[in-house]
Amino acid sequence: MGVPKKRKSKMRRNRRRAANSNLREAVQVTECPKCREPILPHRACKSCGYYGGREVIATE
Ligand SMILES: [Zn+2]
Repeated sequence: MGVPKKRKSKMRRNRRRAANSNLREAVQVTECPKCREPILPHRACKSCGYYGGREVIATE
């Protein structure tokens, strides 16, 4: 098997990913277990401020 000799730069990598939409990572959306809002994984919920079973952002 051919092994890449040099690591490609960030610019090369990013330019390649911009040109090939199939190599882009799909944006994952899950739902908040508390308020059932669509949320991004590993981030606190925007509407209720919950993450990991407790409130981490103050909400009104
Ligand atoms: Zn929530």
